[in-house]
Amino acid sequence: MDDLFITQSEYFKLFSHPVRLKILEILRREDACVCHINAILDLRQSYVSQQLAVLREGGIIEDQKCGWNVYYRVIDRRIYEIMDGVLSIIDPDGTLLRDPLALPADCPCPRCRDGECDEKVAQPETEYSAE
Ligand SMILES: [Zn+2]
Repeated sequence: MDDLFITQSEYFKLFSHPVRLKILEILRREDACVCHINAILDLRQSYVSQQLAVLREGGIIEDQKCGWNVYYRVIDRRIYEIMDGVLSIIDPDGTLLRDPLALPADCPCPRCRDGECDEKVAQPETEYSAE
């Protein structure tokens, strides 16, 4: 039988990694493919994929296909209330150094390059059926 505190601590573990927090901040703006996320983080793509898999298996994000590409989105945006709540405790004055998570001008992802699947940017809250 699963103890509530065990389940809760397992859930918190999903957030206890700086790269996963950065990925979630990127996905706060819009759903994104792995190459878009990787262009911002400038890490090995296999490493980014590994962290995306942890978040997906933990039920934090889901992927959606658009043509040949896979876009990741946050399933329940209440996670940002958790993240913002922690931030307000550990950095109430906003003095800690923050990674700007800037998108490079030459992002190679299909959306930035060709405008593919752009309709999802305009409607981030919409549910998309997986077909
Ligand atoms: Zn991009």
